[in-house]
Amino acid sequence: MSEILVLVEQVEGEVKKVTLELLTLARSLGTPSAVWAGPGLTDQAKARLAEYGADKIYVAASSDIVDYVVAPKAELLAQLVAATSPAAVLVAATSEGKEVAGRLAVKTDSGVITDAVGLGEGFVADQSIFGGGVNVQSKVSKGTPIVAVRPNSTAPEPAPGAGAEEEVSVTLSDAAKAARIVERVKQEKGARPELTEAAIVVSGGRGVGSADNFSIIEGLADSLGAAVGASRAATDAGWYPHQFQVGQTGKTVSPQLYIAAGISGAIQHRAGMQTAKTIVAINKDPEAPIFELADYGVVGDLHQVVPQLTEEINKRK
Ligand SMILES: Cc1cc2nc3c(=O)[nH]c(=O)nc-3n(C[C@H](O)[C@H](O)[C@H](O)COP(=O)(O)OP(=O)(O)OC[C@H]3O[C@@H](n4cnc5c(N)ncnc54)[C@H](O)[C@@H]3O)c2cc1C
Repeated sequence: MSEILVLVEQVEGEVKKVTLELLTLARSLGTPSAVWAGPGLTDQAKARLAEYGADKIYVAASSDIVDYVVAPKAELLAQLVAATSPAAVLVAATSEGKEVAGRLAVKTDSGVITDAVGLGEGFVADQSIFGGGVNVQSKVSKGTPIVAVRPNSTAPEPAPGAGAEEEVSVTLSDAAKAARIVERVKQEKGARPELTEAAIVVSGGRGVGSADNFSIIEGLADSLGAAVGASRAATDAGWYPHQFQVGQTGKTVSPQLYIAAGISGAIQHRAGMQTAKTIVAINKDPEAPIFELADYGVVGDLHQVVPQLTEEINKRK
């Protein structure tokens, strides 16, 4: 089966869930090879990549790869593409992943698809475009298909691969070393999952009514082990931090379950969440546009519905 390169996303040696999803997806289309960019590959990470089907693990351990912003990873992948002629390259559709994908496409004179939410036979991707207004199927027609896939598009399933390690020495151009990282500040990690990676997201909008009331959204999120999101109306009002805004000018999420409470469903909000697998809307207005999109809708006051829902979920634990 043809080789598919998967760029590994990791934090301090821990492989991110999205990489396991990409390996699972790659396995359905060929033989996945993981690409570890930078130092710090641990035995635990190796085992994890093999567990999810990596046949090979290319390791470019030079610290140069991570000491400069994004460009070295694209050069590393371009060199691997030239050396291995893979059937495709998969990266996570994170902000860094999408930049790597774009740069790699230019370097290899290939087509690129970003924000894919599915990938099938012949590398035909399901894609949400124009701010989420249109869903299309797309296929790269030139060079090596480079596809940036959104987190949570596939459920990760283990199926062991050989995990054979292969060292790669990469020659970086001066251009790739144009922007050096001089400091890294570790972000405080809360107890909740990261918004763009979470399998469940509970979001609140203007209907929540105040910053204090967001505690009921957090309560529901915590009962489900979910991340909290917010509409722009809520973040602009200062009720919840901007980093949690979902939508065209906020984060794009693609969870298994998205619960929207007190959110009308404006096109700019939909752009960030409409590829969620299941959407539940809680809104007191039965005509709210979010119900056109929702799989399940509850017409009611969120201040009553959400605490009851949280209580029921907690009872079942
Ligand atoms: C260029 C541009 C970019 C934008 N980017 C984004 C973006 O990234 N993300 C985003 O979210 N928006 C974005 N917006 C704003 C967007 O157009 C909407 O204004 C915004 O999404 C509305 O937020 P909302 O649904 O919370 O508020 P509203 O539209 O005011 O809706 C509030 C909803 O809450 C319901 N409600 C009220 N009280 C209750 C209650 N007690 N119980 C249950 N339901 C209740 C109401 O019926 C209503 O449907 C953008 C706009 C522009 C122009």
